[in-house]
Parts: sequence; C-alpha cells; structure tokens
Amino acid sequence: MAILTKKVRGTEDVLPKDSYRWQFVEDIMRKESSAFGYKEIRTPVFEHTKLFSRGVGETTDVVQKEMYTFDTKGGESITLRPEGTAGAARALLEHAIYNDGLPVKASYFVSCYRYEKPQAGRLREFHQFGLECYGTSNPAADAELICAAKSIFDRLQVKNLRLELNSIGCPECRKKYHEALKEYFETYKGELCETCLGRLDRNPMRILDCKSPVCSKIADNAPKVLDFLCDECADHFEKVKAFLDKAQVEYVVNPTIVRGLDYYTKTVFEFVSTDIGAQATVCGGGRYDGLIEELGGQHMPSLGFALGIERLLMLLDAQGIEIEKPATCDIYFASMGENAQAKAFELTQLVRSASLYAECDVVGRGLRAQMKYADKIGAKFSIVIGDNEIEENKAKLKDMESGEQRDITLGDEFLTQFYDALFDKQNPDGLKI
Ligand code: ATP
Ligand code: MG
Repeated sequence: MAILTKKVRGTEDVLPKDSYRWQFVEDIMRKESSAFGYKEIRTPVFEHTKLFSRGVGETTDVVQKEMYTFDTKGGESITLRPEGTAGAARALLEHAIYNDGLPVKASYFVSCYRYEKPQAGRLREFHQFGLECYGTSNPAADAELICAAKSIFDRLQVKNLRLELNSIGCPECRKKYHEALKEYFETYKGELCETCLGRLDRNPMRILDCKSPVCSKIADNAPKVLDFLCDECADHFEKVKAFLDKAQVEYVVNPTIVRGLDYYTKTVFEFVSTDIGAQATVCGGGRYDGLIEELGGQHMPSLGFALGIERLLMLLDAQGIEIEKPATCDIYFASMGENAQAKAFELTQLVRSASLYAECDVVGRGLRAQMKYADKIGAKFSIVIGDNEIEENKAKLKDMESGEQRDITLGDEFLTQFYDALFDKQNPDGLKI
C-alpha cells in the first residue's frame, strides 16, 4: 500500500535513532549559555505578521519573499516565525521583563520557517538556538555574547571555524554610507540584478548581501562601511575588538558582512566554516540598538545571535566529531509464561524507579526472540524468569558481553545486588565501597 503522503519539501524528520545528536548539542548549548547567565524563553511558533515586517525589516529578503503568512478564520494575518529575535523582543515588552533588572539575558530554541529554495544547509523548516541580551550598549556585552557562541563551538571541539567581525554603525553613519553606496552602484545600474535595482533606493546595503555572481563582483569594490563610522561607533568597535583580544578570541574583520536582517547596528558577526559547502554561515548575530524602540518600547540597546542547528550538525559530521551515544539498556528481563511476564514487568518497574534503563517483553515474543531483542538493544545484563525462578525467588543474572553469570535474588535485595553487578562491570579493577 502506498503511504498517504510524504513530508513537505524543505522539511526534515529527526528519527529516534538520530535524536541523540540533537540532544547532545542542545545540552551543551544549555550548559554553556547558563554559564553566561542566560535563561530560556519559549515563545509561540506564530505571531502577528506586523511583528516580523516591522521587527525583521520590510526591505529584507525574509519579509519580502520568505515568510509563511496566512489569514486565520478570524481574518487576522499570522506568520510562522522566520527567526527568534522578534518574538523574544515582543515577550520582553509584553511582560516588561526589563523591570527585573538589566541586562535581561534570554536563550531560545526555535523552529523557523522560511520559503527558500531547499538545498544542503537550507531548509524551509529549520532550527535555531539563540541568545538575546537586552539593555546594554557597552562593548563588553558584544564581546561576551561572541564568547558565549565560541564556548559552544569549543565545547563541541569544532575546528576551522572563522569568526568574521564588522561594524555597520548607527543610523547616522549609515545615512552617509548609503549615499556613498548609492552613488557607487548607480554607475553599475545596467548590470545589477532586478532585486538589487529595487534595493538601490530602499536599502543599498542589501546589495552587498546579494548572492548573484555579477552583483557580488560589483560589490567587491564598493565603499566599505568601516570608513564611514562616526567617532562613537568606531570607538565602540575598537573596544569590542580589545575585549575579544583579552579573551583570546581570534577574529578577522570582514567589512562586507551586513547580515540579512534590517535591525542590526554597530557590531555584526558570523561564524563561518569551509567544511559545509555554500551555506557556510553556522551562526550570525550582532547588535540591534533600535529594535526595541521599533517595536514600541523604550530605547534599549540590545544584541544577540542565532545558530543554525542543522548546519552545526552538518559541520560536526563533516569534521568527524564524535557525539556521545545514548546509554544502552542496563538490564533486560526475559520471561517464559504469563506469571513470569508479570514478575519481569514488576522488576523492570523496580529498576526504572532507580532511574536505570530496563526493559522486558511487551510484545509477547518467545524466549529466543526476546534474547535476540536484548542483544539488539545492547542490554548490559539479562535475566531469564520462568516458574522455577519465581518459586525459588532467585535467578541468574547474565553479563551479556562476557557471558558470566551470578545468582541474584528476585525479592527486596534485588536492586542492591544489581547495583553491585553494574558497579563491578563498570569498574572491573575498582574497590568495592
Ligand atoms: P543565509 O545567509 O545562510 O541565508 P541568514 O543571514 O538568512 O543566513 P540568519 O537569519 O542570521 O541567517 O539565521 C541565523 C542562522 O540560521 C544562519 O547562520 C544559519 O545557520 C541558519 N539558517 C538561516 N536560514 C536557514 C535555512 N533556510 N535553513 C537552515 N538553516 C538556516
Ligand atoms: Mg537567509
């Protein structure tokens, strides 16, 4: 029979056999970001469309081409979040979280939705881990945020990741820079792609981000934003770099990074790898001093980054980085007959109550098939329970690897005796305590 339907183009399933890889990186993200003082925020998968059109920026590709927007039955325009920052900022304002003291440091795991052309490292549903830090304009915060991202990559032992850094200044510097860019790109009007022609008036900086080879070649010689920074922005950038030097974080200044979202000011950065093909940016972020005001709040300089989890996993794969496999089953209780199955069930629950991993037959298989299954799930120990064992309240505990057997009581003493066996197995030369 043919299956009813397959997954939607640009989406992926994470299967039970692979989910440990996600959990492994997510655990590290949680631990590292906690060490930097971040607490998790969870926001809805959809928001009012205007949050993104305003928060992400009308002139961005995300808003112009990539959003999943629909009208509800009630006639409201709703959008599946294309990124995590706007929702977190909305929640900050709605719950006045800033009253709890500044800076507010929030982390998030989100699924994101963008109608893009699916390819390696580019999906229509993808996942991000991100950090948001609200209420500080100090350059130490920029460096601290970058250090937090770096600590995740370090903990994962990722190699050859380049940190590219730039400053795109404040709206004042940007005004002058836009004029210079416009003047420069006007001379190439005949060669620019159609999208970039549109960008010329509205937001010429976007042209620097164009993926078309012609536009990007023209963009190579465009004026550089760093030459247009006002004194304050230039000083801020110098201090960010000085803090990074202090933390011994290596970076390269790349004056062409502008980032894909409109809300950025001053610091922008990307972690880039050459090991995962064309979609090389694993993590991108920066400062967005105007965003909170844009969403109706007070002036609240803020910053953050988003890290693409699929791209990170691709990178770990490409670099052959080992991911801790999930724990295998501690003990499998095989049984023969109904009474024995009931006893196995009871003992399995007992072992689980001690937070150990135990299994018994819940399929109704014969003994041979049960033992085959115990092997398949990599059980460390097994016990076969039949009428005799129940009568004597005793059974043989078998080490599945060595084949060694020892007697074990099935009553109150069971857990203590099983702990002993586990301890001996895990510490073959260890002293008994
Ligand atoms: P790109 O230039 O690759 O399109 P972007 O500038 O649109 O990236 P951001 O909006 O800053 O990316 O998102 C942060 C991170 O999320 C990216 O660095 C990337 O790792 C990941 N990401 C973005 N879009 C996708 C996608 N369509 N599929 C998978 N991961 C993505
Ligand atoms: Mg993009």
